[in-house]
Amino acid sequence: MQNHAVVIGAGMSGLSAARVLERFFEKITVLDRDELPEGPTARAGVPQARHVHALVTRGAQELDALFPGFLAEYEAKGAHKLDVSYDGAVLRYPGWQQPMRSGCTAYLATRDLTESIVRRRLREGGRVEILPRTEATGLYVRPDAPGRAAGVLAVQRGGGTNLTLPADLVVDASGRSSKAPSWLASLGAEVPREEVVDCHSGYSSRWYEAPEALPADCWWKLVWLDPSPEENHFVGGVLFPVEGRRWIITLVGYAKHYPPSDEEGFFRALGALRSPVLQRMAELGRPVSPVYSSRANQNRLRRFDKLTKPLPGFVAVSDSVCTFNPVYGQGMTVATLSARALESTLERVSLGDPGFERVFFGSQHRAARDAWNLATSADMRFPGVKSDLPAPSRFASFFGDSILRTMNHDAEVLRRVTPVYYMLKPTRTLFEPDLAARILLGGAAGVAAARLRRAPLSPNPPPRPEI
Ligand SMILES: Cc1cc2nc3c(=O)[nH]c(=O)nc-3n(C[C@H](O)[C@H](O)[C@H](O)COP(=O)(O)OP(=O)(O)OC[C@H]3O[C@@H](n4cnc5c(N)ncnc54)[C@H](O)[C@@H]3O)c2cc1C
Repeated sequence: MQNHAVVIGAGMSGLSAARVLERFFEKITVLDRDELPEGPTARAGVPQARHVHALVTRGAQELDALFPGFLAEYEAKGAHKLDVSYDGAVLRYPGWQQPMRSGCTAYLATRDLTESIVRRRLREGGRVEILPRTEATGLYVRPDAPGRAAGVLAVQRGGGTNLTLPADLVVDASGRSSKAPSWLASLGAEVPREEVVDCHSGYSSRWYEAPEALPADCWWKLVWLDPSPEENHFVGGVLFPVEGRRWIITLVGYAKHYPPSDEEGFFRALGALRSPVLQRMAELGRPVSPVYSSRANQNRLRRFDKLTKPLPGFVAVSDSVCTFNPVYGQGMTVATLSARALESTLERVSLGDPGFERVFFGSQHRAARDAWNLATSADMRFPGVKSDLPAPSRFASFFGDSILRTMNHDAEVLRRVTPVYYMLKPTRTLFEPDLAARILLGGAAGVAAARLRRAPLSPNPPPRPEI
């Protein structure tokens, strides 16, 4: 057993990492700059919690394995377990999806609820000390061993007391705003290069109290409206139900078509989407929040996996390494996969061994790579995208479009593709010969039919599925 691990950040990745570290360290300290409430309360350190957060199947399974009983408590506290393709009115850019079961479920709840259950369960384990209001300001190195991270420098908020927290392993889980690159640079350590794919997208969200009952024709439990760059529609929107009979309605704008952040503009923008259904829902609900905006939607990958000499004693996980355009709902799941990569590395390699950090970063990269490829290739469809990666080939773009076109009506494609999006299966599944052929034929037929028909898009979702 190692002595002491310090985790910077008590978000989803810090809490998941701390849980796996319990197996390997006598003492684990998680510090966070925020006050950490008992229940599902908003806090400044995770401003993204004001926006919709879907937990896809793989992340749900991993969280339940890390924190047994999590899912039962989650549902008991009001998380909605839904098959988006069946329970939702889904307008993909080629058209409305016929409601069909995909066999995969996503959990819809506030991010605050998700995190508060995980945090409480970690605390109850009794092995992890959580230090609130404690902000990491750098890495500590011992004067007699300057080539190794030996802990964390921190300051306690309020009193301003400076702390040095010695550690055998430091885990940076401080998220998108991680300062790790500048901490590493100040020590003369190797700094990862970054790859960015930015389609200049932003969110605006408003919370609503849902009505007691909906009109009979509103059969859906959630709404998903994609934009359609081909038709000059750069704003999409979603409605997710969350616990406490509330909805979060989020507008997502691409290619610098940032959605409005004022209440009147938000409501007007709902009416300008490809279908009026979201504006209708907003009229049925009662707004209970202002409009919140976020532009933290860039895909950014820090290539820790490419470092030739990573600083011993220091690793970074999840968003502090790799962030995604959140519209694909991957971040919390990747947080659990990062924790699993840390666990498997600690099982195979001793912490003091040269190469420990490289093994970990490589393994984490492999765990997140599919999610990265899916998010970046989808974002590269938008005009004006800023990208450090080569543009997808015409074939790759056609294949991606064909998936969306075909899964709108082909139940088998939907059933086989959704597990890839929900991170249960690798992306190579999409290239299984019979599936790829079906997708390509469906895509080609869909394009031909659309050219012949040129029928205007129905403003309303297709009728209710058979129960
Ligand atoms: C708008 C938006 C919507 C999203 N929607 C989804 C979704 O639908 N589904 C999904 O799975 N994911 C979604 N995500 C991503 C998801 O929120 C993150 O990927 C996930 O929370 C894992 O992040 P993390 O724990 O690494 O970082 P975070 O959750 O950001 O947590 C970082 C923590 O570190 C703390 N911290 C930061 N700096 C310091 C410091 N110096 N010292 C001490 N503490 C510090 C912060 O207070 C915070 O608690 C969304 C993200 C955004 C921005």
